[in-house]
Amino acid sequence: MSGAYSTTQNTAGPWVDIDLGALCANYAFIRDQAPGVETAAVVKCDAYGLGLEAVACALASRENCQIFFVAYPEEGAALRDYLGVSTPDIYVFNGPLPETMPLFEQARLTPVLNDFEQASAWAQRMPGVVAALHIDTGMNRLGAPFNELDAIAAINNLNISLVMSHLACSSAPTHPKNQLQRECFIDAAGKFPGVRLSLSASGGALMGKDYHFDLLRPGIALYGGSPFDEDEPRLTSVAALRAPVVQLRDAGAGESVGYGAHQITQKTRLATVALGYGDGFPRAGSGHAEAYISNAHAPVVGRISMDLISLDVSSVKNPVKTGDIATFFGEGVSLFETAKACNTIPYELLTGLGARVDRRYF
Ligand SMILES: *Cc1c(COP(=O)(O)O)cnc(C)c1O
Repeated sequence: MSGAYSTTQNTAGPWVDIDLGALCANYAFIRDQAPGVETAAVVKCDAYGLGLEAVACALASRENCQIFFVAYPEEGAALRDYLGVSTPDIYVFNGPLPETMPLFEQARLTPVLNDFEQASAWAQRMPGVVAALHIDTGMNRLGAPFNELDAIAAINNLNISLVMSHLACSSAPTHPKNQLQRECFIDAAGKFPGVRLSLSASGGALMGKDYHFDLLRPGIALYGGSPFDEDEPRLTSVAALRAPVVQLRDAGAGESVGYGAHQITQKTRLATVALGYGDGFPRAGSGHAEAYISNAHAPVVGRISMDLISLDVSSVKNPVKTGDIATFFGEGVSLFETAKACNTIPYELLTGLGARVDRRYF
């Protein structure tokens, strides 16, 4: 349904500014950590919420990124449309099911096979067509267990071009599990001689040569999010979440603000901003998160509502006006800090941004 009042964009609401140059700078930074090693891009979940088409096209055309990873075949098929047939390898982490096999074939997607059954089904339906193999090295999530590897290696017409695994604890580089998984990976990969190897996502890519093997699979670092339990200042900010001030008011001591009537203990200048949990800004940030406005920090006061957040702008020197823009991460506050204040991680904050948040590229 459309009519005189329908709009394609929410012009008075929140948006996220996406700096594709910064995305490319992060890709180049990761690539430069590992000379001679190929760097792929993980673009699952709509490129971590930042837009599959814009992100993948920028990385392919400006940085000549040749390998992409997605989670689902549908994401891979969309990516194939954007990138065309001559490009790159598109790997699908979740692997093929009987009902998605035709999509793999049509869109020329490369499956990441996760067990013996998937591997033999693929070899039967697509004999000789390359596939990747995910080996479980201790995460117990996806991937073939060690005791299936001999049987997988012996499958007729199975053409494995890449063997990969995934680190459970790369958010903490000194965690002993990293070293254990690395050893297990080397051991398991020995059953597939001559095949390219990939162990590391963003965290492992920044953990040094021992973790690089032949191919890196960064996701979050490309988007400026730290993969670690602390911020990573070497990454460039890519996404900035912004929202306009829609109303200003003064609340005196003894008054309250928002749902649940959060008590105001001293005279406070409040800016009501057009952003809420309905846009994916976590309600857990109530009373903890901060915005950056007029070159100053302004804490969130009271409960975050579906469409609105109240900021304490009392200590902002330049008087805040209706229409001024508050930044919730990207400048003044990092994605990592805001995620932490919302009791989550950069991954969840980015992928949670809702459809109402306009994506603007520059
Ligand atoms: C999501 C994912 C990645 C990318 O992880 P980041 O931590 O975002 O770099 C790499 N490999 C696998 C198997 C994944 O699921």
